[in-house]
Amino acid sequence: MKADINEFLEALKVRTPGEREFHQAVQEVIESIWDVYQKNPRYQKAKILERIVEPERTIIFRVPWVDDRGEVQVNRGYRVEFNSAIGPYKGGLRFHPTVTLSVLKFLGFEQTFKNSLTTLPMGGGKGGSDFSPKGKSDNEIMHFCQSFMTELSRHIGPNTDVPAGDIGVGGREIGFLFGQYKRIRNEFTGVLTGKGLGWGGSLIRPEATGFGAVYFVQHMLANLGKEIEGKTFSVSGFGNVAWGAILKINELGGKVVTISGPDGYIYDANGISGEKVDYMLELRASNNDVVEPYAKEFGAQFIPGKKPWECPVDIAMPCACENEVNLEDAKMLVSNGCFLVAETSNMGCTAEAVEYLTEAITYAPGKAVNAGGVAVSGLEMSQNSIRMNWPREEVDMYLHRIMKDIHDTCVRYGKKGNKVNYVVGANVGGFVKVADAMLAQGIV
Ligand code: GLU
Repeated sequence: MKADINEFLEALKVRTPGEREFHQAVQEVIESIWDVYQKNPRYQKAKILERIVEPERTIIFRVPWVDDRGEVQVNRGYRVEFNSAIGPYKGGLRFHPTVTLSVLKFLGFEQTFKNSLTTLPMGGGKGGSDFSPKGKSDNEIMHFCQSFMTELSRHIGPNTDVPAGDIGVGGREIGFLFGQYKRIRNEFTGVLTGKGLGWGGSLIRPEATGFGAVYFVQHMLANLGKEIEGKTFSVSGFGNVAWGAILKINELGGKVVTISGPDGYIYDANGISGEKVDYMLELRASNNDVVEPYAKEFGAQFIPGKKPWECPVDIAMPCACENEVNLEDAKMLVSNGCFLVAETSNMGCTAEAVEYLTEAITYAPGKAVNAGGVAVSGLEMSQNSIRMNWPREEVDMYLHRIMKDIHDTCVRYGKKGNKVNYVVGANVGGFVKVADAMLAQGIV
C-alpha cells in the first residue's frame, strides 16, 4: 500500500514540481482515504484520485496599483477553482507575502473536503495575492483591492465562485472588493461572503471560525467524558480566528493563557479575557500584529521570538498559520500535560506532528475544526439567495448543528476501538461525498 501511495505522489510531484505545501496536503489526504479508494473499483475506473488533485481551473493575473507616493506597484493575483462537484467554488482570499500557487493549491484542495464536511452545497476554491497589507494606508489597500477585483470579477459570481476572507482579508477588504465588483458588473448579489451586516452580511460570520472550533472541541471533550469548564488553553496568533475562539472559551468557563504574534508570545496565567481582549482588538485595528504591548499593559510575561507550545496547558488551539506546530513542539505540549490539540489554522501541524499527536493524545485537523467559518459563509449565501437576514440565535443554532454533524462524521469514519482518528474521519467523510458526486456527473 505504501509503495502505491508513493508511486502516486511521485507522479504528482513530477507534474507539479516544487509545490511543497500542496504535496504535503495531498499526501495527508491520500494516506487516509487509500483503503476506501482501493475497495471501490468505480472510483478507480473513473480515476477519481487523479482528477481530484487537479484544480478544475487556475487563474493567475497581474495586479498593478499606485501607492501613496505615486509609484506603480505590481503584485500577482490568483484564484484556484479546485472542485465544483458539490456546489459553486467557495473559499477565502489570502493577502500575504508568503502566498504562492503551491500555498493556494494546498488551501483549495483542503477547502474542497472542508466544505464537503459542512453538509452545505459548496465546492472548493482559494485565491489571493502576495500583496502585504501590513503598513499600507486605507487608500493603498482600496486601490489594490479595486485592481485585484477588476480582473477577478470576470471569473466569479454568486452561482459560480464565491470568495471570502482569509489571512490579510477582513471586513474592510471585503468591502472594497464588493464595491468594485458591483461597479463593474452592476449587480448586487452574494458574490462574496463576510460582508458588512448592513449590506448582505450574516450575524456571527466574524466570530464563526473561532466559535465553531470551540463547539467542535466541546464534542471532542464530551467524547472523552470531559468539558471545557476549568480547562486551560494555549492559543496562537491573535487574528479573527483566535479572537472568536478566546471569546467562546471564556464564555464556557475555560481559561486562555497564551496568544502570539510574529514578535513572540504572551503568557498570562490570569487568563486573557474581557478588557484584555478588547485591548488586543484595538491594537490589531491599527494594523499592528505584535503582542509585546500586551505585556506592558497588563503585567504579563512576553517571551520574544518563541511559540507558545512550551507552556503547560490542557488544550492547545493553533490559530495562526500552516506548520506552526512541529514534532518538537508537539512533544513539548504532550510532556507538559496537554491532552487535546484542536488544529484551528489550516494545516497548522507538520505531518510528523500530526502522526505523533494522533498516537499520543487526541488530535483533530483544521479542515474539521475550523469549518465553522466557511459554514457560516454558506449560511450567508443562503440568506442572500432568499433576501433575508436571520437572527443571531438562528445562525448560531445552525453553526452548532453543523459542527456536531462534522464531529459525527469524523466519529463515523474514524472510530477505531474506543478512539477516534479525526484525521481519517475528516478526510474520508469529506472525500466520499465529493467522489460520489464526481462519479454521478461523469468524466468532466
Ligand atoms: N478562509 C476561511 C477558510 O479557510 C473561510 C472561507 C470562506 O468563508 O469562504 O475556511
